[in-house]
Amino acid sequence: LSSHFPPGAPRVLTLANQKGGVGKTTTAINLGTALAAIGETVLIVDLDPQGNASTGLGIERKARTLSTYDVLIGEASLRDIVHETAVPRLHVAPSTMDLLGVELEIASAKDRAFRIRDAVAGLHRGGGEPRFTYVLIDCPPSLNLLTINAMAAANAIVVPLQCEFFALEGLSQLLSTVEQVRGSLNPALAIHGVVLTMFDPRNNLSSQVVADVRAFMGDKVYETMIPRNVRVSEAPSYGKPVLLYDFKCLGSQAYLKLASEVIQRERTLRTAA
Ligand code: ADP
Ligand code: MG
Repeated sequence: LSSHFPPGAPRVLTLANQKGGVGKTTTAINLGTALAAIGETVLIVDLDPQGNASTGLGIERKARTLSTYDVLIGEASLRDIVHETAVPRLHVAPSTMDLLGVELEIASAKDRAFRIRDAVAGLHRGGGEPRFTYVLIDCPPSLNLLTINAMAAANAIVVPLQCEFFALEGLSQLLSTVEQVRGSLNPALAIHGVVLTMFDPRNNLSSQVVADVRAFMGDKVYETMIPRNVRVSEAPSYGKPVLLYDFKCLGSQAYLKLASEVIQRERTLRTAA
């Protein structure tokens, strides 16, 4: 086992896909909420300058005096910037637009790819409370230094794929980036799974995409699919995860199922390690 992930450290899952609009942020928020609902203590780290995860969890822009930007430039610890959310046991480290310029600012630093890994490693130093059991990192829609930081910090990657015609486009580039990170920055990095999002059972194309992705990625694809559900897309404008907004809707139920599948898979990954 890699020394970066000592026993008692949180499990770190990174939501990555360089395509925008595939459900990374929605999955970070709602998988995080579902994990918290079943007793985990979760920190969502927002690494997207858009800050959609922060907004969707009810953190107003003016409340983000410190953000992941300050962590990346080494002027704050992750613990310094954490906010509680309306969901018990769910916390968020928000982002701001400052992230847009951070790559250039840290480009010449030797440890530029390890800023988030080291910040996560420091979370529990000195016995900080709460003790996080999961850290979910929400990435921007690009394979830039922010995403590389998130991959270098992770135990495993969760890849959201939207059930639409171009779903598989870009996937091989993503997988080869994961391969590169594994070969240099983070040898222990695993693919946790591929989550199919915005599935529409009435749409033949959607079902065809599911078949294609399952043929290509095999059992890396979670059984749970997230249906296209208007409640899921409404919830962020109320600053709430869909599980708080409408617990009974199909989207909420799917994210709860996904969380139990993720935990199931965690056991398998741990046994294999
Ligand atoms: P990304 O973070 O990959 O850019 P988002 O999570 O922001 O993608 O999702 C893109 C858009 O699709 C958002 O407007 C979001 O509300 C919507 N969306 C995501 N998942 C669903 C879903 N299951 N049903 C309906 N709309 C969804
Ligand atoms: Mg996003």
